[in-house]
Order: sequence, then C-alpha cells, then structure tokens
Amino acid sequence: MASSAAILPSKMKAWTYLEYGKSSDVLKLQSDVVVPQPRDDQVLLQVVAAGINPIDFKRMLGMFKNSDSPLPIIPGYDVAGVVVKVGSQVKKFKEGDQVYGDINEKAVDHPTQFGTIAEYTVVAEKLLALKPKNLSFVEAASLPLVIETAYEGLERCHFSAGKSILVLGGAGGVGTMIIQLARQVYGASKIAATASTGKLDLLKSLGADLPIDYTYQNFEDLPEKFDVVYDAVGQCEKAVKAVKEGGEVVTIYGAVVPPATTFMLTSNGAILEKLEPFLESGKVKPMIDPNGIFPFSETPQAFAYLETGRVTGKVVISII
Ligand code: NDP
Repeated sequence: MASSAAILPSKMKAWTYLEYGKSSDVLKLQSDVVVPQPRDDQVLLQVVAAGINPIDFKRMLGMFKNSDSPLPIIPGYDVAGVVVKVGSQVKKFKEGDQVYGDINEKAVDHPTQFGTIAEYTVVAEKLLALKPKNLSFVEAASLPLVIETAYEGLERCHFSAGKSILVLGGAGGVGTMIIQLARQVYGASKIAATASTGKLDLLKSLGADLPIDYTYQNFEDLPEKFDVVYDAVGQCEKAVKAVKEGGEVVTIYGAVVPPATTFMLTSNGAILEKLEPFLESGKVKPMIDPNGIFPFSETPQAFAYLETGRVTGKVVISII
C-alpha cells in the first residue's frame, strides 16, 4: 500500500461509465484515470475495499440524472482504505490512518463523480471514521451506507428501548443492520422481520424473535401489531396495516402511504463513531453475503449479483 504522498501515482485504474445504462453494458475498466486531489476539507484514500449498494446501479441507470454529477462517473459510495494525503484543513486524520465511510453526504444530490470503485478516491473528513480494529477492510466497507440508513430510520421513527418493531426485508443490506441495531443499540422488546424461506435462521441469528416467511405468510394479516414498522423493500401500503395505532412507519423505497414517512440518507462519520463500541465489541456484525466478495477485476459480476435483489447482507469489491 502507498504510504506517502511522494510516491503517489498520477493515474489510476477505475471502473467508470460514460453513459447511463445497465451495468453489464456501460461499466468499463479504465487504467489511465487521473487520481483526484483532495480539497482543503478532504483526504485522499488508497481504496482497499468498496461496498456496493442498489443506489449504485439505480444511479447508473440514470434514475437520478437531474441531480447527478456530470459523466463519466466512477460508481461506489462505500469505502474502506488508507489515508495517503490530507487537505490543509483536515484535523481528524493523518496519513496512514485506516478509515471507512460513505463518501456522498447526500445520496442523490450531486453525488461525486469520483466514486470508490477505483484505486484512489477523495472524501470529506466529516464523512469518515477510523476503521474498527477488529474489522477487516472488506468488512468495514460493507457497513457505512446501510448502517447509517438503518440508524437514521430508527431515529426518525423515535425508536427506543421497550418498543416492538417489524422489519420488512430483514435479510438485505439495510435490513440486517436494522435488526441488529434495534436489538443491540436500542433494546427492542420484540423484533419481527420478513425474508424468504431459506433466510429465516439468519434473521434469528441477527436478533429477530419472530422471523416471517413472506412466501407463505402475509405479515399484514397477523393479529399482532408493532410500535414501529421499518420498510426496506417498498411495501408501504401493507406496512401501514401492521403498525399499532399511534405507532410509526418509515419506508426507504417506493411509494409512501400515510402515516408513513420516508427519507434519503445523509452520510455522516459521526454515526459510525457513535456505533463504534457496538462494532468493536462484536455486538453488531458486518453481514456479507457468502458469495458476496469479488475481486476488482470482477466488478461487473459483483453488480450482476447485487442486481438479482436476492443477496443476503452485502456485496463488497476487494480492490487490493
Ligand atoms: P438489498 O439488495 O440488500 O436487498 C436484498 C434483500 O431483499 C434480499 O435478501 C431479499 O431477501 C430481500 N427481499 C426482496 N424482496 C423482499 C420481500 N418482498 N420481502 C422481504 N424481503 C425481501 O437492498 P438494500 O437492503 O441495500 O436496500 C433496500 C432498498 O432500500 C433498495 O431499494 C435501496 O435502494 C433502498 N435504500 C434506500 C435508502 C434511502 O436513504 N432512502 C438507503 C439505502 C437503501 P429474499 O431473497 O429472502 O427475498
């Protein structure tokens, strides 16, 4: 790994797209991309691992093109890597620090042109935290966007100790974090979560008391209702039928049906710092799909796998 700005190259390898479209059509490996330079409040990272998220392929399809950066774009929000250069105003980090984070403060409002599926990336220091020592770079790169989304949603619906929650999409990147945070950080009284048949044991291992197999059970028909319903799959119309009177429903995808609320996550390294004790103690664990780690050269295969919508936890690209 590079250790000093003096030996940094001027060009790097990066996966890029020059036009919007399906990942299998538009994603290309370039080997002569100019290494971005950090602004005053940014650091330059040598990327060790990059997590990928559905927002990467949605953005690649052009779904946010009205508020996107100009093409060509290097995709990737999540990163774990090593600081190799710091901007003049950077206070928290120095060269050699091992850090992780989601590099886009606003997910769809001008996300950066220079994402994380590259040998180097630049990122504002406020979006980063030191990597928990017990986690590998691959594990750390699996976390930022999903754990920050899980946390922001739980905060927005005023989740707290003693409340019950139903998580829709418990086996996905976000869902696996919602369950663990609800159990370990907030002290939920009861956690129900939905997934397909083969993933129910996983839900239990994450801390769910009541795994619901959506392939034969309709959660909205259960007599039991919940203080909070967190919808991570886009089933808001049904979600609002499963909440107690006076309870709260938060959805992160699809149509919003009253009284549910929605949000688009804001990246913030302070959330990672707040959750660090839970990560370092192993109470909250990264959840990477058993087939979900891909080498840099197989980035298109990583996207093809994520795009199935069936992954368990996360897909991560190992850059070096
Ligand atoms: P994933 O690709 O990780 O989700 C895959 C999982 O979804 C699979 O394990 C699958 O389980 C599960 N799933 C699919 N359909 C259902 C269903 N009907 N019921 C229960 N589980 C189901 O996605 P993420 O968790 O990363 O993201 C979820 C959604 O949230 C995406 O649309 C994403 O873009 C959005 N999002 C929005 C954010 C925001 O700020 N608004 C932030 C982050 C994500 P199975 O195989 O068992 O069906």
